[in-house]
Amino acid sequence: MLRTWIGDIVDQSGKEADLFGWVDNRRDHGKIIFIDLRDKSGICQVVFGPWSGKELYEQAQKLRNEWVIKVSGLIKERPENMVNKNIPTGTVEVEAKSLEILNSSLTPPFEVTTDGHDVGEEIRMKYRYLDLRRPRMQLNLNLRHRVVKFIRDFLNEYKFIEVETPALTKSTPEGARDYVVPSRLYPGKFFALPQSPQQYKQLLMVAGVERYFQIARCFRDEDTRGDRQPEFTQLDLEMSFVEREDVMELNERLLIDLVKNCTPEKKIQQIPFPRMTYKESMDKYGTDRPDLREDKNDPNLLAFCWIIDFPFFEKTDEGGWTFTHNPFSAPRPEFMDMLLKKENIADILTTQYDVALNGFEIGGGSIRSHTPEALKKVFEIMGFSEDRIVKNFGHMLEALGYGAPPHGGIAWGLDRLVTLLSNEPNIREVIAFPKTGDARDLMMDAPSELEKKQLEELNIEIKKPKK
Ligand code: ASP
Repeated sequence: MLRTWIGDIVDQSGKEADLFGWVDNRRDHGKIIFIDLRDKSGICQVVFGPWSGKELYEQAQKLRNEWVIKVSGLIKERPENMVNKNIPTGTVEVEAKSLEILNSSLTPPFEVTTDGHDVGEEIRMKYRYLDLRRPRMQLNLNLRHRVVKFIRDFLNEYKFIEVETPALTKSTPEGARDYVVPSRLYPGKFFALPQSPQQYKQLLMVAGVERYFQIARCFRDEDTRGDRQPEFTQLDLEMSFVEREDVMELNERLLIDLVKNCTPEKKIQQIPFPRMTYKESMDKYGTDRPDLREDKNDPNLLAFCWIIDFPFFEKTDEGGWTFTHNPFSAPRPEFMDMLLKKENIADILTTQYDVALNGFEIGGGSIRSHTPEALKKVFEIMGFSEDRIVKNFGHMLEALGYGAPPHGGIAWGLDRLVTLLSNEPNIREVIAFPKTGDARDLMMDAPSELEKKQLEELNIEIKKPKK
């Protein structure tokens, strides 16, 4: 189709153009009607006047905001004093020769031409398809796309392949509550949606894939906060035959190149990224994701840092032990003996590395236990019975027994990274269809009840909800 993108018309004066888009604004000046026309590439001014003829002029009079139209006309330089410096196409305008109304629009419940920060969240989420029309939201979606594309291209150069892993799986012990899906074929049994592809990516290492990544959807049934969502996206990756240093180095390079490429206006405060141990960070900043920016008023300053040498275990409220980050992590090599002997548990340090940016954790990973003995000890330290270990992790222990290579990886919180790169206040601004702060999809009206028949098929009876 011969379509002219609005963003491209600046250098095309003297040419005829077929433009498609939404009426952003209409100004009726009696003899002349101005339309601001918007498509995904930009906004331009279209003019209807005496040259348009009576019929066309009358059609233009009917136009209202957010109507969808096709306009054909002549692209013309504007006289010097009519140039609009506020829009990139402000040096030109389009003299309309024909107009086709492709669809009308109801009056939108809010302005879609503003940045929308002052519009209530409920109404924005209910009409997300309108909210996304804002230039700000379009820019965010675009940035996200460019970030993901950059990651894919970069990792491809380093011999990574993207592999999809299942959404219907078994519960992973990532420390949060699982979302579960009842099985129709096996009444009383449930799948869990993955909190992360952790086990699958390790099994891909056993499978000889050696370098895996995935732009992966993860699900955690937690109380939603500003930077949390029930479902969110990770850049998940795993590599074989690596040590901690290798994974950190590759990720640091990827982050630096990504920032240079996708957000060149940003400045990285310190390269190589500073590193500190968990203890140093806690002692000095009282947190394990310190905000190291020298100038916190600078919206374009990015202060990345690595935090390493976390304790592997911490005490539970009941007085037992649990992992601080990831049960599949290996201890630092000098602590392997302690782990295998289950001695001095509080002193064991893990290979975990976290990467923080401006006070937010944007990623974390580790080198993994690649022998069944080491992994099993972790669960023993956590007080799991032999039975429970076999039932929950038997498949992992077995797989590690079949020549599992040494391996390690990382996962980035992609939504959070894009939020910081776009200077948005929370991750909902960079997710096309997020849940509300209280974990609902107001546009689709989810979660919702099921039909009686569906419940019967699933063998599920609903108890009266507690008041
Ligand atoms: N699976 C871990 C997480 O989601 C990250 C990793 O260790 O690769 O936090």
